[in-house]
Amino acid sequence: MDVLTLERVGLQIGGARILNDVSLSIPRGEMLGVIGPNGAGKTTLFNLISGVMFATEGVVRHNGRDMTREPIHVRARAGLGRTFQTSSLFNGLSATENVRLAAQAKAGGGSLVTRFPRVTDAATRLAAARLDEVGLADHAQSLAGGLSHGDKRKLEIAMLLAMDPSVILLDEPMAGVGSGDIPGLMDVIRGLHHGGRTVLMVEHHMEVVLGLVDRVAVMHHGELLACDTPDAVMKNPTVQSAYLGDPV
Ligand code: ADP
Ligand code: MG
Ligand code: MG
Repeated sequence: MDVLTLERVGLQIGGARILNDVSLSIPRGEMLGVIGPNGAGKTTLFNLISGVMFATEGVVRHNGRDMTREPIHVRARAGLGRTFQTSSLFNGLSATENVRLAAQAKAGGGSLVTRFPRVTDAATRLAAARLDEVGLADHAQSLAGGLSHGDKRKLEIAMLLAMDPSVILLDEPMAGVGSGDIPGLMDVIRGLHHGGRTVLMVEHHMEVVLGLVDRVAVMHHGELLACDTPDAVMKNPTVQSAYLGDPV
């Protein structure tokens, strides 16, 4: 069964059509790139999948379950996860403490804004394992605020992993990351596939997209123009004409 399906999903806000008739089936374990010009609807698509916003048309399914009307925390606990924004890191807490907070949120032990959750051995072990998975074991005790942009992104991914997602949504994970940090971050993203996790990634760096993904979804003016292998997408005449004078 496909882990995630969108059936004719649309979003209309105050008479403006933001997203139109998007259908997509994503098999378990796939890495899907999402590309398109600014304002194409990529982030909106992730918002509708994760529950930040509700679709006004169509159905969003996760493992066959209709999630269209479920709020964000229900979807997150069911395994639909997206990275936290950098601003949600507690800069004054260590990397370990940040991941532990995310783990407690998943366990129902409190929300991410709970400043002093009960520290359990299990949460500490889980935090160590997740930090190791993203290559931050050496920074476990470092303050989040002192990490490089690339390491902050890795920490956000470790926090997401602490919630044990089956589907991971990454919105421009390379944004603001120095070019020297990009290969390391690509390795981490490549590794997210372990355990059959499915990854959807909005990304502007084409070398990142082409180097990582199984398929590419192309968004344009709120529509899904194509979803195919990178090779086929690049040769698609509809995609080519949409991009003339309108680079990614
Ligand atoms: P992308 O991530 O591809 O750059 P977005 O999904 O952020 O694009 O935005 C797609 C379009 O929807 C843009 O024109 C944006 O201005 C509009 N939009 C996004 N969210 C809202 C909202 N909450 N209300 C009104 N318009 C919105
Ligand atoms: Mg944008
Ligand atoms: Mg966006």
